Amino acid sequence: MTDLLASTTAPFVSTVVEERRVVTAIPGPKSLELHERRLAVVPPGVSSMLPVYIEKAHGAIVVDVDGNQFIDLGAGIGVTTIGHTNDAVVAAATEQLRNVTHTLFTITPYESYVRVAELLAEHTPGDHAKRTVLVNSGAEAVENGVKIARKHTGRNGVAVLEHAYHGRTNLTMAMNFKASPYSTGFGPFAGDIYRAPSSYPFHDGLSGADAAKKTIAHLEKTVGASDLACLIVEPIQGEGGFMVPAAGYLPALQQWCTENGIVFIADEIQSGMARTGKYWASEHLDVVPDMILSAKGIAGGLPLAGVTGRAEIMDSAQPGGLGGTFGGNPVSAAAAVAVFEQIEANGLLAEGERIGKTLTTALLDLQKRYPVIGDVRGIGAMVAIELVRPGTTEPDAASVTFLADYAAKNGVLLLTAGTYGNVLRFLPSLAISDELLLEALGVLADGFAAL
Ligand SMILES: *Cc1c(COP(=O)(O)O)cnc(C)c1O
Repeated sequence: MTDLLASTTAPFVSTVVEERRVVTAIPGPKSLELHERRLAVVPPGVSSMLPVYIEKAHGAIVVDVDGNQFIDLGAGIGVTTIGHTNDAVVAAATEQLRNVTHTLFTITPYESYVRVAELLAEHTPGDHAKRTVLVNSGAEAVENGVKIARKHTGRNGVAVLEHAYHGRTNLTMAMNFKASPYSTGFGPFAGDIYRAPSSYPFHDGLSGADAAKKTIAHLEKTVGASDLACLIVEPIQGEGGFMVPAAGYLPALQQWCTENGIVFIADEIQSGMARTGKYWASEHLDVVPDMILSAKGIAGGLPLAGVTGRAEIMDSAQPGGLGGTFGGNPVSAAAAVAVFEQIEANGLLAEGERIGKTLTTALLDLQKRYPVIGDVRGIGAMVAIELVRPGTTEPDAASVTFLADYAAKNGVLLLTAGTYGNVLRFLPSLAISDELLLEALGVLADGFAAL
């Protein structure tokens, strides 16, 4: 009875019924009207995959302004990993909103930032001493990771991989593999970025050891290990198309980094935070990164990102050298603490495994019927299919566009990916039931039949 403010809030109860429901054409009339307004004031550079305007969401369902309900297989690109408007996250964020929304951690700090850093230290691979910096976005985490690695090593070179995606800021544009749409016309770009071949088993057929040899040989020739501050990898590549590297690839890269004083950074912004059935994809792939970058899923839909690394590396940045006005915002940090608590209390890592099994079984079955599915890959709730001309590895992007559109029109949000736009990716929230998931996959199967 001491917290009078809290006692005035009724507990949050979502009114969203967890079912698919299509009641208008997609997009519906209200969405079309909003889209007109948007086109007058928002530039086309900020495009939307599907101009359906969302009013509310809960669990694995999003509801648009026309009352259509979609089964969400994208979770805002792997952000609402524990479900839209998760009750505990909403409660924690609401309480924090009423207590304090901003002080600026670098002026006067607060506990939730520290708690998130403790949780990240506890739940990232390796039992070495760790430190965490909180920032606002994935790209900002990448920027800070690079900054710290450079300061620590006194070197400039940054190694990245083919098919990588790291963000839309100036430095991260230079680190992305794909120029269009991310960087075309937006130069000049940051220098000292070196790109090496990655492991892409469906296309290169190489063992992890051979793919790593190729990556390392390329970097040794084009820059030289002694000039590299860091190698940054997505353990499972996200925008590139959910490529799981061949076994042994990442450990070989890590070993080479360690031997040469190069900071080994895992960009787990998409693959991390319970997406794959473990907290981090690195754990499946047998690496203990020197630094882990997190963002997307860590705060249940609120903006937050983290750079978590070995203490001796992180401590090399001078006081005042790291931070930013909104970094580690109290509301986002409170939400992140609730996300960790939910994962632990509700055994959500096991949900990732369940979803992975359901997805993979259904998609392998579809592959038997539709040879346009060249590859089914992924771990946990991070699975993709790559569409090709049957019997080849030549990309079939047109079918991907057709299927995503077919799914949307039938109440399923399905995201595309891939350097060649020929990948459909599944990253549903861990809250999705097998029943809803199978219903969505049924819609996809109808889409394949209609191809
Ligand atoms: C989304 C993403 C980023 C960029 O994160 P933003 O929050 O959009 O800046 C970086 N790396 C990976 C692997 C991502 O998936």
